[in-house]
Amino acid sequence: MRALVFRGPWDLAVEDRPDPTAGPGEVLIGVLSTGICGSDLHGYTGENGRRFPGQVMGHETVGRIVALGAGVEESAGLTEGAVVTVHPVLACGTCPACQAGQDHRCPTKQIIGVAPSISSAFADLMVVPAANVVPLPDTMPADYGALVEPLAVGYHALTRGGCGPDDRVLIVGGGPIGQACALAAARLGAKGIVVSEPHPGRRALLEDIGLATLDPTQVPLADALAGAGGAGSPSLVVDAVGSSRSLADALAVCDEGERVVLVGMHEPQVSIQAYAVSIAERSLVGSYCYSGADFRTTAEWVASGPQELGRLVEGRVSLADAPEAFRALAKGEDGSSKVLVFPAGIDAMGSAN
Ligand SMILES: [Zn+2]
Ligand SMILES: [Zn+2]
Repeated sequence: MRALVFRGPWDLAVEDRPDPTAGPGEVLIGVLSTGICGSDLHGYTGENGRRFPGQVMGHETVGRIVALGAGVEESAGLTEGAVVTVHPVLACGTCPACQAGQDHRCPTKQIIGVAPSISSAFADLMVVPAANVVPLPDTMPADYGALVEPLAVGYHALTRGGCGPDDRVLIVGGGPIGQACALAAARLGAKGIVVSEPHPGRRALLEDIGLATLDPTQVPLADALAGAGGAGSPSLVVDAVGSSRSLADALAVCDEGERVVLVGMHEPQVSIQAYAVSIAERSLVGSYCYSGADFRTTAEWVASGPQELGRLVEGRVSLADAPEAFRALAKGEDGSSKVLVFPAGIDAMGSAN
């Protein structure tokens, strides 16, 4: 098979690798498309130190089942040719976190696309434990399947914040995770959802899918919010950037006694206005990844084919063009929000749509 190999910072190449085979309890998947994640880009540049030379990345993926390993029973959706996505968290299943349904907090978990020993989704083929294969219907546009993973990150963040119908929600940052958070807030019934995003192309995308936006570079966030459809102080703010600046903004505008969720991971260390938490009794809630249940709930929603999902994909490239796509995205020369890589070729998706 061909695989996109990370050879070191700023160095990706398509290499031939032996075809993997499905062992007992595993499923062999032919990859249709895989999203380039912000974490892949930070790994590619060497910034986050979480990707290693020789590794094949890719954790936001959709494909078709090629073969079932021994002991995997054909069942609803688990048949050769079926369209599936992959829940990338491989957890032990037995520790207290796993038993509590919080598999993403499993101390021995490995994440497909992050763990260097697991050949992942920027390749023609990948092998995944059957329990992590999530069937999707043939009736939806197949490339929506590659969006399940980032959308699940947003869904988990909003449930961590206790989002409900009475919430006025502000999302700080309108990149793919901010978009996922805003769509999750809408799914959970929140009203008055506003996304703060400086980049005009991203604001246009958000507005195209029916979300209110504001430009924080033009007016201070608090003033802008006062004019944003009378939303007033948000009861729930999600920091989908994760810098000192974005967290300060989030705390400054969140209603007293209410909630700020930190899901963005831009900086490993941020400063924090302590009194904005203590005196105003705001709750600062961390959010990372998603549970298996969040992933499957999100897959069900994606399977219903929400129209707005089509707008989230702004670029489509072949495997051969993926190194250049990574470079342009990491350099900021390409401002596209979500770019998908198609190992089998962009045309191969047609049959699945
Ligand atoms: Zn991701
Ligand atoms: Zn565990």
